[in-house]
Amino acid sequence: MSNDTIESLLQDCTARATTYLNTIDQRSVAPSAAAQADLAQFVMPFPAKSTDPAEVLATLDQIGSPATVASAGQRYFGFVTGGSLPATLAANWLAAAWDQNSAFSVMSPVVAQIERVALGWMLDVLGLPTESAGGFVTGATMANFVGLGAARHALLTRAGWDVEAQGLFGAPPIQVVVGDEVHVSLLKALGMLGLGRERVHRVPTDAQGRMVAEKLPPLTDMTIVCTQAGNVNSGAIDPHDAICTSSRAKGAWVHVDGAFGLWAKASPQFQEIAAGIELADSWATDTHKWLNVPYDGGFVACRDAQAMHQAFTINAPYLELQAQREPCHYTPEMSRRARGIDVWAALYSLGREGAAALIERTCRHASRFGQGLAEAGFDVLNDVVLNQVLVSFGDDETTNRVIEAVQADGTCWCGGTVWHGRAAMRISVSSWATTDDDVERSLAAIIRVAKGAAGRG
Ligand SMILES: *Cc1c(COP(=O)(O)O)cnc(C)c1O
Repeated sequence: MSNDTIESLLQDCTARATTYLNTIDQRSVAPSAAAQADLAQFVMPFPAKSTDPAEVLATLDQIGSPATVASAGQRYFGFVTGGSLPATLAANWLAAAWDQNSAFSVMSPVVAQIERVALGWMLDVLGLPTESAGGFVTGATMANFVGLGAARHALLTRAGWDVEAQGLFGAPPIQVVVGDEVHVSLLKALGMLGLGRERVHRVPTDAQGRMVAEKLPPLTDMTIVCTQAGNVNSGAIDPHDAICTSSRAKGAWVHVDGAFGLWAKASPQFQEIAAGIELADSWATDTHKWLNVPYDGGFVACRDAQAMHQAFTINAPYLELQAQREPCHYTPEMSRRARGIDVWAALYSLGREGAAALIERTCRHASRFGQGLAEAGFDVLNDVVLNQVLVSFGDDETTNRVIEAVQADGTCWCGGTVWHGRAAMRISVSSWATTDDDVERSLAAIIRVAKGAAGRG
């Protein structure tokens, strides 16, 4: 392919992507039924002959773009979903052009260096111990996997067992403690590690979904306590001061699933509800949620750098830490894309103030949703302490009907959940792009739709 072809192709791509992002605000947040029906056009036999790259791109844009969920826009409040900060989207494109393998520094000195810097900045913005090791993974599921893998290594090493070499057959047992509202992906990580999705001690949670520290079972130095920073429904953060203090006293390992809630630490205003998180041993978070980097991105940090290194190194586990950080000794993958570049670009463009402002602004939007919905007479089910709002519109059937109608209306998108036995609509404000005006428009639409849909019951 000639340089001219690449140039015109990438220019075409830029034009199409720009049009997409410039018009995303004018379309329904959910893709229309017609756009979804058109996805059938992707179904074609595997072509025998080659296709012009320009046509490949045009097909993707013409059929694909209208059928996207507009989560890169300003009024997507489903699940816990960030958009992409401009700097990180652009850096991601350049990194794709570089096509670096991030496994070893010899394969890409630039990626190894940027990831070292991004690691330091992540520990800084999240207020985690500076001696921690860290890794850039696909999301919180894999970040939990790595943190818990380091924990498994550390506990079994203390008990004289080499789990990486010998596996778990015949190993001394590890007790795993979780809160009753543990995220399903943490259980999945436990399953992948041979620790078992169901072989856990569940600690009761309070009205906001926080683990009750007084109800922890007796802990030992063979216990992993899995806490949560950011209940996926309510946004509530476990009482880390109390949990970490009692765990430390017994030599138990604390792993924090902080997929989004760990970011409370980036704001002076929200640090208090996250107090004590820095006393834990390992931390998992998403970067594609609240940091607003493109999918996929997650980050894991571990205070005991040696444990994380030995659990994930591809060398013999008795090797010492190398002076030069080699990325693939800290993640499950060997070859992978340069995920740390997205994080570096996001943090570089935001700075400490911008990161705090992003957290504070989205939380303010969530408060406004909670206040506006309560004023309109609907039941806000959680204390809105972070970026999550749970609202009921009456009985479960009515609530579910309203959620469907909100999605069909297209002004914004919110999903459904079940909170303490009750159907609820969940509003998660995680995008850098959402403005005050977007919140007011969305609030008005939800209230209008809810009053209409409730009336039709
Ligand atoms: C989203 C989330 C996860 C899973 O994150 P992925 O990025 O989808 O792997 C885990 N825990 C909590 C609390 C979450 O909100």
